[in-house]
Amino acid sequence: MATKRDYYEVLGVSKSASQDEIKSAFRKLAKKYHPDISKEENAEEKFKEVQEAYSVLSDENKRRQYDQFGHAAFSGGGAGSGFGGGFNGAGFGFDASDLGDIFEDLFGGGFGFGGSTNRSKTRARRGSDVLMQVNLSFEEAVFGCEKDFDLDVVSECNECNGKGGFGEETCKRCHGSGTITSEQRTILGSFMTKTTCPTCNGKGKTYKEICSKCHGKGQVKSRKTITVSIPSGIDNGERLRVPSKGHAGENGGAAGDLYLEFNIKEHKFYERDGLDIYLEVPITFTEAVLGGKKEIPTIYGNVKLIIPAGTDSGDKQRLKSKGIKDESRRKTGDMYVIFKVVTPKKISKDQKKLFEALSKTNLEDNEIDKFNKFTLNND
Ligand SMILES: [Zn+2]
Ligand SMILES: [Zn+2]
Repeated sequence: MATKRDYYEVLGVSKSASQDEIKSAFRKLAKKYHPDISKEENAEEKFKEVQEAYSVLSDENKRRQYDQFGHAAFSGGGAGSGFGGGFNGAGFGFDASDLGDIFEDLFGGGFGFGGSTNRSKTRARRGSDVLMQVNLSFEEAVFGCEKDFDLDVVSECNECNGKGGFGEETCKRCHGSGTITSEQRTILGSFMTKTTCPTCNGKGKTYKEICSKCHGKGQVKSRKTITVSIPSGIDNGERLRVPSKGHAGENGGAAGDLYLEFNIKEHKFYERDGLDIYLEVPITFTEAVLGGKKEIPTIYGNVKLIIPAGTDSGDKQRLKSKGIKDESRRKTGDMYVIFKVVTPKKISKDQKKLFEALSKTNLEDNEIDKFNKFTLNND
């Protein structure tokens, strides 16, 4: 994620702004960037940013923490942490049992668009996002895979096709407008006020028969199986966006997105660093001294590697483009072989004799010479 903007800057208010100023700044921006209505570029991101800033600054406690510690006050923790009830928080970290609450929260007043008088219940609303943790094996992440997921999402009721009932009629109370105008007399004169029609809940329509499956909501929670093709090269903690596989929207609004966040199992031998792969290769004493050839398992199959004479523990060889291919970014990593000289623990009598004979020859080289002199000088 890029550097976070200051929350006051996001809302365009001063550090000493009152709660009223913060609220009104938020309302203005939320309307401007709401993904369902905004034509601004990156509206969704901006909307989330505004939502996040507001969730902190509107809460005196959080605001104090933020003033003191900045963004650090809320960092740490995983997806969607810290911001309950917001657009972000609602979609992410969801729990199937909380679904109803989240939905209420998100659509039933969490947006802060003001009183219910000017909120149309027939406006299209985007569904919320869903975040799902996915475990992958090393191979699945490296080569990509296709996976099925069972997902509990809010979807359109198929019994009533999302209408909430059968036998549609124009609401008799509001004559289809969804609002009721009434006159209020006060000492300052009389005012006309508009309120949402309680009979049709602002829809302008009523039904002869309420759908028994969704109880008139037009939406139900249901379990869906979706198949996602995961590109090769996914890394630990990375997120993949699957468009429109989140919760269904309302009144024709777009569905939310599904985000998959990956936990990748470690491999027994390969170690991964981004797209590069590291492999420790044990070699014998004699291979280290004399050099030789060795079959090395790359993720694409075995290759023959030449071990140069005089190889040390820790010596590295690079196998270009034998690392992980990242399909989505069109990049390929390298593989690094790291040699590890293994000192034999069990040797036969014959071998022992050979080593003894060897030790009588002068095996010392420059490096050992230098160390020996250092030892003597410190005596
Ligand atoms: Zn009505
Ligand atoms: Zn229904």
